[in-house]
Amino acid sequence: MKKKLYFSLWIALVSCAQKTEPDPQPKPAPVASFAFAEGEYYAPAALTFTNTSQNATAYAWDFGDGTTPVTEASPKHIFHQKGTFTVTLTATGPGGSQRMTKSLTVKENPEYRLELKLKDGLAGGMLGMLANGKSALAFEVTLYDKAGNPIPAASAVKLYDNGSELTSSVFKTTAEGLHEIQAKGYGISSNTLVVNARKDAVFEVVRIPLVFHLMYKNDTWTTADLQQMIDYVNKLYAGALYDDTSPKRDPNTVNTYIEFYLADTDPTGRTLPKKGLDKVSDDPTLYGTGSDPLVVKNALAASWNPTKYLNVFLYNSQYPNAANGAYPTLPADKPLKGVGTGIASSAKTSYGVYWPGDFRIDPVNYFPAFAHELGHCLSLLHVFQEGNCNQDLDYCADTPVFLFEEVNKGIVRNACSGVKFLGTNIMDYGVPSSGCFTFDQRTRMRHILDWAYDLPTKINQTRK
Ligand SMILES: [Zn+2]
Repeated sequence: MKKKLYFSLWIALVSCAQKTEPDPQPKPAPVASFAFAEGEYYAPAALTFTNTSQNATAYAWDFGDGTTPVTEASPKHIFHQKGTFTVTLTATGPGGSQRMTKSLTVKENPEYRLELKLKDGLAGGMLGMLANGKSALAFEVTLYDKAGNPIPAASAVKLYDNGSELTSSVFKTTAEGLHEIQAKGYGISSNTLVVNARKDAVFEVVRIPLVFHLMYKNDTWTTADLQQMIDYVNKLYAGALYDDTSPKRDPNTVNTYIEFYLADTDPTGRTLPKKGLDKVSDDPTLYGTGSDPLVVKNALAASWNPTKYLNVFLYNSQYPNAANGAYPTLPADKPLKGVGTGIASSAKTSYGVYWPGDFRIDPVNYFPAFAHELGHCLSLLHVFQEGNCNQDLDYCADTPVFLFEEVNKGIVRNACSGVKFLGTNIMDYGVPSSGCFTFDQRTRMRHILDWAYDLPTKINQTRK
């Protein structure tokens, strides 16, 4: 009884309140609505979205292409890629929120073509690198219109490595194996370039004593002269002449784990008065090149046991191109393309480097040349070919094939593949930029150190 009375009283109070404060106006619910021009769209497709929403004060647009949503009422948007996209407008007002979605399809643009290539003029010129996270390959993307004219490519063009977007056009990786690099944008894809990223190798350091036989009258050569050259050569053979960011560094550059040093003693064990220097002649004759028969004969007479020393013959010449390096030879069961087999080269001629004596100490021009001649002694052939693009006559797949005539055009070479590259290989003639040995060149040199006759290597201390 008592309970019922309280209930009635409460009803009466509520009724009274409703009469004194009028009902609030119902807030109208927003209606999300938009339109865009009907038609066929080709990437890059620029569209304007006209907002026709009602009862809304704020808008959020999601274009469905991975770009950041925007809040303008009637935005413009560019779809850079091909695909079908769901555009969502969320309209918000005092009465709540509503969404509207519409889908649209953007097609590949037949007006454009994307071309991906290695960046012109940089070192290397090959699609190969070390998978060490430091070695770098730079790419260049060009967008062409229908007429084949290059046009500026928007930042919307991205590079992909095996399908994953790259953040830079300079590619580095620690993942060994093949990498398919492709550019995409404007709804189109470029050609694919396949990069081979190899794991670097580590070898035992081989140290080779050098003796310079002074075969003409000249007392000015000093140990310090020679040491300065050897220090440079060793830095080059260690792959340390250029750092990873240098445009002169081939991305296949390796440490060869080969070191040279000046011999301390002669074959009888006597200490050399000038370390690394053996004076054998006062001959004043001025020669042309190291292949002059008398130079070869004198060198053979001056040569020390090639299994104990690597011989360098300093002869009297003023010809700057007269340096040369003899090729080694291998046992018949350990062949290497481009290298003779079956007989020690020293049995026929003097093995070693022929070095024109007036080719004096000049770090820019002559130090790399000396490293080059030592490269021949360790089996390397020139990286340029003689008149034929169909042969790779240095037998190293990671050096570009190019014609000898390129050598005289400057240090940027045109490879037979069409790539322009800086001639950085030490087995090139691009002296101002040369300072690299590649992975495959090292493989050859290490085979020579393991098996060749005529070198002061481990095998030749135990052979016979
Ligand atoms: Zn050469």
